[in-house]
Amino acid sequence: MIPDRARVVFVGAGPGAPDLITLRGARAIAAADVVLWARSLVMEGVLEHAREDAEIVDSASLTLEDQREIYERAARKGLCVARIHSGDTAIYSAVGEQIRVLEEIGLPYEIVPGVSSLAAAAATLGQELTVPELAQSLILTRREGRSPMPPAERLEAFARHGTTMALFLSIARAAELQEELIAGGYAPDALCAVVYRASWPDERVLRCPLGELAERVSEAGIDRQALVLVGPGLRDARTRSHLYDPRHDHRFREAVG
Ligand code: SAH
Repeated sequence: MIPDRARVVFVGAGPGAPDLITLRGARAIAAADVVLWARSLVMEGVLEHAREDAEIVDSASLTLEDQREIYERAARKGLCVARIHSGDTAIYSAVGEQIRVLEEIGLPYEIVPGVSSLAAAAATLGQELTVPELAQSLILTRREGRSPMPPAERLEAFARHGTTMALFLSIARAAELQEELIAGGYAPDALCAVVYRASWPDERVLRCPLGELAERVSEAGIDRQALVLVGPGLRDARTRSHLYDPRHDHRFREAVG
C-alpha cells in the first residue's frame, strides 16, 4: 500500500525570475518533503518557497533511473515530491517519461503549469506575437540536435508556412538554423529576435534580420538558454483586432454605428 501523502507534483517554475512562478506552484513547493530541481535551468530563488527541512536534490546529474529511485522511496515512505521544471511543463520538459515511471510505481501525480520562456520572451520584447490579419499562428519547434526530428517536422517544412516561429533548444547551432530557415523560404531580411535568459538578471535581447542571425549570436557569445523568434509576428502591428473594434459586436458589447 502506498501511503496517502505520497505523490509527485510537477511544477512549471517559469522562465527564471522567482516571482514568475504561479501561486499554485509556490504552494506545491512549500508543501513538499523533497524538492527535485535542475540548478542550471531554474533560479535559486524558486527554492525560497521550500520548507527549511525539505530535502533539496539537484536533478542535473541524475538519470531517469536515479529519479525513479527517488520516486520509489517517496512511495515507500509517504513523501510528497515537488519536481520543478523550467518554463511550462507542456514543452520539452521530460515530464512524459517521468509520468510513465510513476504509473509503473503506482504513485499519483499532478501537474502545475508555468510561464513558458516563450511568454517571457514575448514580454521582454514588449510584443504580442500574433498580428491581426497578418500573422495568426505560431509554430513552436526546435532544430534537430542530438534528438532526431520526425521527418515531417523538419525546419524547412515549417518555414514554408512563413508564419511566426519560436525555436527552442537551437541557439548552439545558429548558423545551421539560419540556413535551414532561409532554405525553407524565409527572406534573409525576415524579422528575427533572440532572447537570452528571459527574466533573469543577465537577460539579453538581439534583434536583426534573419540573414545576420548567426553572426550576431556569435558576436554576442550566446550559446544556450535562448529562444529565437522569426517571422511576421515580430513586426509592429498596424492592423487592429476585431475584439476592440467599435464596428464589431460580440457577446459582451454591441456594435456602434
Ligand atoms: N519548458 C521550457 C522549455 C525547456 S527546453 C519552457 O516552457 O520554456 C529549454 C529551452 O527553452 C532552452 O534551450 C531555450 O531555448 C528555452 N528557454 C528556457 N528558459 C529560457 C529563458 N529564460 N529565456 C530564453 N529561453 C529560454
